[in-house]
This record gives sequence, C-alpha cells and structure tokens, in this order.
Amino acid sequence: MKALKERIIKDGKCLPGGVLKVDSFINHQMDAGLMYQAAQEFVRRFSSASPNKILTVEASGIAPAIMLGHLLGLPVVFAKKNKPSTMENMLCTTIHSFTKAKDYTVCLSAEYLGPGDRVLFIDDFLANGQAALGILDLVKQAGATLAGMGFLIEKAFQNGGNELRSMGIHVESLAIIESLDNCTICLQD
Ligand code: 5GP
Repeated sequence: MKALKERIIKDGKCLPGGVLKVDSFINHQMDAGLMYQAAQEFVRRFSSASPNKILTVEASGIAPAIMLGHLLGLPVVFAKKNKPSTMENMLCTTIHSFTKAKDYTVCLSAEYLGPGDRVLFIDDFLANGQAALGILDLVKQAGATLAGMGFLIEKAFQNGGNELRSMGIHVESLAIIESLDNCTICLQD
C-alpha cells in the first residue's frame, strides 16, 4: 500500500534490535485517515474471505480493525491483555512479546467468539508470528474458523510470515520490510 510505505519511510524510526518505531502514526499518535485507507486495502485483499467478525489484540490493532469492521458492517472483537476479573467463559492463551521480551496472557470471552464464527484477524505488526499463533489458538479453542490474517507491517526478516503461510493461512501485509540493517528501512516493492 503506497501511502503506508511512504509514511513509514517519512516517519518510521529504526531502533536497535530490528525494531521499527511508528509511534507518530500507528502505535501512539494515530493517523485515522491512513488507518481508513489501510482498511479499504484489507477489504480489497480479503474480498473472497467472507468473514462474519473482525478479531484483533489490544491496543494497536484496534484502530485498523475498527475501520475495517465499519467498512464491512461487522462486529470487532479485541483480545484483552491480562485476565479481566469480570470476564466469564474466558478463553486465554500465552504469547511471547518480541519487542518487550516477555510473556503475556491474552483473553477473550467465549460469548464473542464461538463455533460458526469466521474471523479475520487484523494487527499492526507481524514479526515472529507469536501474537498471530496465540490468536490462532484462541480461534481453535472457540471452535471458530480463521478466514485470514491482515497486518499493516510485516518484517520479512523475521519468520512469522513464512510460518503462517506454510500453515496455509491467507496472510496479507500492507507494507513489507525486507531489512532494518544499519538502521536503514528497506521496503519490498
Ligand atoms: P510477533 O508476535 O509477530 O513476533 O510480534 C507482533 C507484535 O509485536 C505486534 O503486535 C507488535 O505489537 C509487536 N512488534 C513486533 N515487532 C515490532 C516492531 O518492529 N515495532 C513495533 N512497534 N512493534 C512490533
């Protein structure tokens, strides 16, 4: 997606350890217009996926996911980090965070994801695929079906994309980063 790639080049910052900081338009301050354009692109790329629900993880997946839910007229569910004491019928899984170098639990209520649901998962980044695999575990626990996974940014130098695609999952990433070596952002054409 041209507008997203241009924004990454203009405002993205490389941090040591292969981390891309996009706090000025995705991860802290958010560009709603760009998120809307991203959602339009997801609509196009997943035109044959037929989801009945959009699924994401708090916090940074929520912005593109809600735009997509609005465009498709579908409910948006976000998995919560940490176990809320008020939640009933919880489905939980453990995810290892690449950027924070620690494990965390994500949960969602079986009330909002169950057999018969066909979900499209949306998130900000695909790196090693740990968050995506955790979500896949929740989808399986719920007895739901995965329609596909869409990411704003994929880091192709980490293995998540290969792993998910080799499992037969329909993965779409709107900007693919080939490398962040020497703190230079190299994007795939
Ligand atoms: P994965 O589980 O695929 O290894 O990593 C995905 C999650 O880690 C994303 O939801 C995102 O929050 C975070 N993440 C991974 N790599 C980066 C990065 O380079 N920059 C930022 N801002 N977040 C990242």
